[in-house]
Amino acid sequence: MLRMSAELIPVYHKVNKLYAKFKSPHRLYDSITRAAANLVNAEKCSLMLAEKDTHALRVAAVTGGDRWLIESIRMRTGEGIAGKVYADGVPIVTDCAAGISKYVPCPRPRYKTSSSVILPLGMGHETIGVLNVSDKRSGDPFSEIDLSVLSAFSAQVFLILKISNCYREVEHLRELSTTDCLTGLFNRRYFNIRLEEEQQRAMRSGGMISLAMLDIDDFKHFNDTEGHLAGDLILKDAASVMARSIRGNDILARYGGEEFAIIMPQTSEMTALKVAERIRCEIRNIRQSPTCRLPGRKLTVSIGIAVYNDCSRPIEDVIERADLALHRAKLLGKDCAILYSYNSEKTEEETVWRRSAGSVSPDLKKIVE
Ligand code: GH3
Ligand code: MG
Ligand code: MG
Repeated sequence: MLRMSAELIPVYHKVNKLYAKFKSPHRLYDSITRAAANLVNAEKCSLMLAEKDTHALRVAAVTGGDRWLIESIRMRTGEGIAGKVYADGVPIVTDCAAGISKYVPCPRPRYKTSSSVILPLGMGHETIGVLNVSDKRSGDPFSEIDLSVLSAFSAQVFLILKISNCYREVEHLRELSTTDCLTGLFNRRYFNIRLEEEQQRAMRSGGMISLAMLDIDDFKHFNDTEGHLAGDLILKDAASVMARSIRGNDILARYGGEEFAIIMPQTSEMTALKVAERIRCEIRNIRQSPTCRLPGRKLTVSIGIAVYNDCSRPIEDVIERADLALHRAKLLGKDCAILYSYNSEKTEEETVWRRSAGSVSPDLKKIVE
């Protein structure tokens, strides 16, 4: 018993290190094969994982062997020794020289010895893969102790792989829940979350947030004449133009339909207007894209901008004011960016609207209603 405990101590050390790698599967797979080989002084180890739908085994990582195995080997359940271990969920120790296994073809040209340990990675009725460990450095066959050590290790490896898979599934779901599937931009749900977070940050640090609401002009007409599929391509093109035109900290989302929104943390109204103007000009160039089928006319966008710098007001206020500015942009003939410059000292009639238009640098015309 005491002897077994001592043998198992390195297993726990290795397993502890593996847990830290659950977020990056390929690093994890490589580390698993290295750790398994290391634990029993073996030269070779490969990790095979079952495909979800077909249950065929594929090589996920190799230590001390040929890396081409990763690409080339695919085994069905029950096929070969790995397929059998996967199907039965029971480890096999082979030593073909001693006639211990009928599964290993002799001679084995890629191996130094005739001994291997093949272990299932599973628990209960579930098996997700197989670990193949071969060629002890000493040239000896694998012992009972080697099998115990590798069995303890593979039970933990199963749990780590399950955690890693769950983590990736959760990440994938999180991405789905925050992403718009057509454009790949953040969706409105994520926009709302981030706007609130930025408001909290602005409240703590006293900063400001600029918000731009963008709406593609005459998009219904485009859909009606070119069809919805062409419309979808335009939305994708417009989204990537916007994504290229914003800064690292800005948050770009598809707000709905042909409307987009950009949260610009710590950004003054003049800078926000410049960003908007850059996007407006870039969108006008979309016609040159091979996917755009606008007949003889340019795609244009109207943009409304508002700034949140009074933390005593609700954050919805800035959305409402950006919307008002966007509405004003449409009234002023579309294809322009309008800034709603809020000043609590002024009455609604004195609200300052700044307009940028034209394909050159912002022409900041003051329009006082
Ligand atoms: P305005 O210049 O005033 O904004 O006019 P508009 O035609 O762009 O605005 P309107 O609200 O009348 O029409 C928006 C159109 O956007 C109607 C709708 O079919 C289209 N649309 C919304 N979402 C999608 C989408 O995902 N794909 C496509 N192809 N069209 C969409
Ligand atoms: Mg619209
Ligand atoms: Mg529109």
